[in-house]
Amino acid sequence: MSVATVEDRTDLYIAGARRPARSGERFEDRDPATGLRLTEVAAAGHEDVQAAIDAARAAQPGWARVPPRERGALLTEVARRIRGVADDLARVESTDTGKPLSQARADVEVAAQYFAFYGGAADKVYGDTIPLDGDDFAVTFREPLGVVAQIIPWNYPLQIGARSLAVALLAGNATVLKPAEEAPLTPLALAELLAGAGLPPGVVNVVPGLGEVAGAYLAASDDIDHITFTGGAETGRLVMAAAARNLKPVTMELGGKSPSVVLADADLSRAVPVITKALIQNTGQTCSAGTRVVVHASRHDELVDRLAEAFAAVRVGRGLDDPDMGPLISAAQRERVLSYLDVGREEGSRMVTGGDGRRVEGLDGYFVAPALLTDVTPEMRVAREEIFGPVLSVLAVDDDDEALRTANDSPFGLIAAVWTSDVDRALWLARNLQCGQVYVNSYGAGGGVPLPFGGYKRSGFGREKGLEAIMEYTQVKTIAFDVRAPRE
Ligand code: NAD
Repeated sequence: MSVATVEDRTDLYIAGARRPARSGERFEDRDPATGLRLTEVAAAGHEDVQAAIDAARAAQPGWARVPPRERGALLTEVARRIRGVADDLARVESTDTGKPLSQARADVEVAAQYFAFYGGAADKVYGDTIPLDGDDFAVTFREPLGVVAQIIPWNYPLQIGARSLAVALLAGNATVLKPAEEAPLTPLALAELLAGAGLPPGVVNVVPGLGEVAGAYLAASDDIDHITFTGGAETGRLVMAAAARNLKPVTMELGGKSPSVVLADADLSRAVPVITKALIQNTGQTCSAGTRVVVHASRHDELVDRLAEAFAAVRVGRGLDDPDMGPLISAAQRERVLSYLDVGREEGSRMVTGGDGRRVEGLDGYFVAPALLTDVTPEMRVAREEIFGPVLSVLAVDDDDEALRTANDSPFGLIAAVWTSDVDRALWLARNLQCGQVYVNSYGAGGGVPLPFGGYKRSGFGREKGLEAIMEYTQVKTIAFDVRAPRE
């Protein structure tokens, strides 16, 4: 049997074994395409999370002593194993999150790439040599943090699970990972793939459970050494407040309202398919989704016409049937998206296309059509707030300065795109946009595995992905030497 299957009952993964919650409690994980129960998942309570922390604490020193080359070889082997069960993993991810099968397949490949990337980096985590007075010098080592807590969302459980686990393990940490209630299945599969590759029990523990129970307990624990939180800003605030009580460091990967800036000289035939994909990917439920377009007035009407045509052609359906766009994750999320469309109407924006809760033949899932809003101005809620659905707000501007001002006029700063044929304008914008990543005439780079990723402003702080993430999962020790010449 593959590790990646949907079973009727899904258990926790603690100290190398699957087990139910001690309380026996379970919660329902629903299929977003049908609204029907997919599986019943063990709901980790305080005792279970504590058991996971204890297992991680016991296992971590041994794992940190494994030579980096061997830790790397194990992570590389996990990449191979992920690719070996790619079809099964993709089907589970597609079913659990609702995303189209080909996107789930891409997520599987990106997950494998994280393990391969960090596997290759494991024996290349060097320190510095610092010259001091005379012959004296100091050296630095990057040491593991210890036991790290990882709280992740439902939109990319496999990719975010992989990026979190791989880098933590490379650095010699042990982890307790809390997946989201809506999509906990593939992080559990990753834990089993790691065990199959030889990871000692206890180094990785996965504890599905309710956020306010399992997540809150983990965030408030004094027995962990660091928290990486990926999710919404409001939850991030709670996690930080809990961590502050124990002075635990946090990395926050939060939301976004990422702009695509389309200048007067942009190549629209290149931009339109990319802007469309940047919105509809994962049904707009991507932290880095491109949900604002800032366009020069001279190109506004042409861009809107082309986008409207592209949106109308988007095939919406069940993930496993591999449409262009699947359902939203839950009924609550659909309500939220539709209510933002009412807000947009009340604020005076114009809905050019989409916005309906779309019916898909034979399915009672959480579908919507992609929506295109024009006449949006920077102070409107639909321009400022993260909707987390396929809603694109178009803002017209008169020149490049206004384009930059408008793009930066946001509480968020995760990523941005610049569309222009002029290299000087592209560079000027890229340098002056306030966000963690800027793409020129593109949007995203596959999974962006080697690229440092994280927010400015309310999109968070700290960086994941790339070699930069190794800094987040290690701490520096400096050892200084007092060197005396033999004759002294
Ligand atoms: P969420 O904040 O509701 O949940 C995230 C995680 O926090 C879940 O595992 C949840 O169970 C847990 N949680 C809930 N309450 C908690 C509490 N009181 N204490 C501790 N943990 C708790 O977010 P979501 O709805 O799952 O995901 C959507 C959000 O995530 C969006 O804002 C999106 O932008 C953001 N996101 C950011 C990134 C990034 O890398 N920047 C990536 C993906 C998603």
